[in-house]
Amino acid sequence: MQETSKRHLCKGKTIGFVPTMGALHEGHMGLIKRAKSENDIVVVSIFVNRLQFGAGEDLGRYPRDIDNDREKLRSSEADILFVPEDKIFYPDVFASHVTVEGISGRLCGAFRPGHFSGVVTVVCKLFNIVKPTRAYFGQKDFQQTVVVNRLVEDLNMDIEVVTCPTARESDGLAMSSRNTYLSADERAAATVLYKALMFSSKMIKTGAGGPDEVKNKLTAMLRAEPLVCDIQYAGVYDPETLVELNEFKQRNLVAAAINIGGTRLIDNVLA
Ligand code: AMP
Repeated sequence: MQETSKRHLCKGKTIGFVPTMGALHEGHMGLIKRAKSENDIVVVSIFVNRLQFGAGEDLGRYPRDIDNDREKLRSSEADILFVPEDKIFYPDVFASHVTVEGISGRLCGAFRPGHFSGVVTVVCKLFNIVKPTRAYFGQKDFQQTVVVNRLVEDLNMDIEVVTCPTARESDGLAMSSRNTYLSADERAAATVLYKALMFSSKMIKTGAGGPDEVKNKLTAMLRAEPLVCDIQYAGVYDPETLVELNEFKQRNLVAAAINIGGTRLIDNVLA
């Protein structure tokens, strides 16, 4: 992969990179499309990165469907598929971990200790191998985009990080490889997340209350769905620092993480 990238870069080509964990859906495809519209070559990686899964999380059952993914990529605008092998990527002697402090501990990071260090470490490895001109991430994982932007700026990586809008099902549910875990009832209940975020966003836009009122309404709407068994966080946050807001800013992040039948779902909107 490094040799291939070097060859393209030597010829003056730009490389757009879309890192994924596979089980590809329309959200991933949107990133690929955007990457192709802005670069000569598009590299997609598929790697279920065990470093970003905590103990008791879904590493073992994370959906893996490489044949189907290959098929989807064949009819996409992706040029190169990079599928690192776990044992080669993380040999026994592997000992380096990269951490972005502060922002990594907020929101999802507060409930998934070590998660963002795992993400940042794999992103560093992938960036060093693929040598992208631009790298594409989804707004669905908003905190990930904030952490990766911090990494690239702090460590002077010569890479443009591009955030792409969240692809949604027709009822608003953010597409996610993990949605396959949901039963039919849970899938129907999951729509509450986007509905509640949209309601909150409207409250902000119409001035129908401050951050506290928005948080209370958002939480109440999520609680009203009987299949929501846990709300990890829900509220209005500063999109740069991810700190919860007492007063609205120009741009506000409304975000929540909930659990439905053992499946953790996250989503966010900017208002
Ligand atoms: P994943 O395979 O879930 O690790 O995701 C790989 C990339 O696709 C990440 O940058 C995600 O933020 C992005 N992504 C996942 N779901 C969506 C979605 N529904 N819309 C847009 N981007 C997404």
